Amino acid sequence: MAEVFVYVDSAGKLAAEMLTMARPLGEVSAVIVSEPGDSAEAVAQAAEYGASKVYLAEVAGVGDYFMVPKADVVTELFKEHAPSAVLLPSTSEGKAVAAYLAVSTGNGLLTDVSALDAEGQATQEIFAGASVSTSKVTKGVPIVTVKANSLAAEPSSSTPEQVAVEASISESAKKVAVVEKVEEPKGDRPDLTEAGVVVSGGRGVGSAEQFKLIEDVADALGGAVGASRAATDAGYYPHKFQVGQTGTTVSPQLYVAAGISGAIQHRAGMQTSRTIVAVNKDADAPIFSLADYGVVGDLFKVLPQLLENVEARK
Ligand SMILES: Cc1cc2nc3c(=O)[nH]c(=O)nc-3n(C[C@H](O)[C@H](O)[C@H](O)COP(=O)(O)OP(=O)(O)OC[C@H]3O[C@@H](n4cnc5c(N)ncnc54)[C@H](O)[C@@H]3O)c2cc1C
Repeated sequence: MAEVFVYVDSAGKLAAEMLTMARPLGEVSAVIVSEPGDSAEAVAQAAEYGASKVYLAEVAGVGDYFMVPKADVVTELFKEHAPSAVLLPSTSEGKAVAAYLAVSTGNGLLTDVSALDAEGQATQEIFAGASVSTSKVTKGVPIVTVKANSLAAEPSSSTPEQVAVEASISESAKKVAVVEKVEEPKGDRPDLTEAGVVVSGGRGVGSAEQFKLIEDVADALGGAVGASRAATDAGYYPHKFQVGQTGTTVSPQLYVAAGISGAIQHRAGMQTSRTIVAVNKDADAPIFSLADYGVVGDLFKVLPQLLENVEARK
């Protein structure tokens, strides 16, 4: 069976999704490059999601440079083992590693892929999700970056063979050093991309102060807070919480859209949510064509009732 590489830069939801996507394509080998002692979670996740093999390169100082030392390891493994496909995360680092790998090995690259079949045919949602493009790499094997929330991760436990990879940081890889790392303070709410419930507010929320109501509903449901671009542009909520084409893509079990009209660019970031609930005072708002449950009404009347009912059931 063909060997398929999955580059796991860190354990998490996207890594689980990539490993799930890779399983029908061949024998999955997770490629992990980390600082010594930092790989335990990623290795455990590779086993939980069915990898047959883990190539593990623990390289002291790898985090002190841009992605080149990691990309060098992936490139060397690629040349040695000739996998039939390589899946990497559609993150800024994942895309940089993918581009480096594609150029240095002369293979084709497809980014933001949401599905890949055994023939190497890749699906990409384009134009804010309004169109679906099907493409195939015509030179070499497919190197693809996988968009978060493209499929439901399914565990399939395995006992992967662990292969220790000897690697060091070359002089050319040291050309771009990381000078400072700033850890974002983590709040009590789940991460937007990983949350099972997302409650988002739009321009209809009306002010930053009134976003407290969105936060209260999110907290009552144990979810994350999201916002439309109109809401973030207006300063009601920080930009990093924007959902949509130019924000984050989410795919929770439950997505609540309050005071959001449902523009195509917003839908691009949430339309694969399992259940969508919309609250909007305009019965003709486009969000209702997408919603599983719609409430036509003032969010300041509807959400407090939702909150009360959720709290009463706890
Ligand atoms: C290149 C590009 C990229 C973009 N990327 C994104 C993106 O990533 N994410 C994104 O969200 N947008 C994006 N946009 C913007 C997008 O086109 C819309 O302008 C935006 O999504 C609208 O946000 P909204 O629904 O909150 O505001 P509006 O469209 O103004 O809708 C507000 C809604 O609130 C309702 N409302 C008002 N008051 C109440 C109330 N009291 N109770 C209930 N309902 C109420 C109204 O009926 C209305 O439907 C992008 C646009 C472009 C051109």
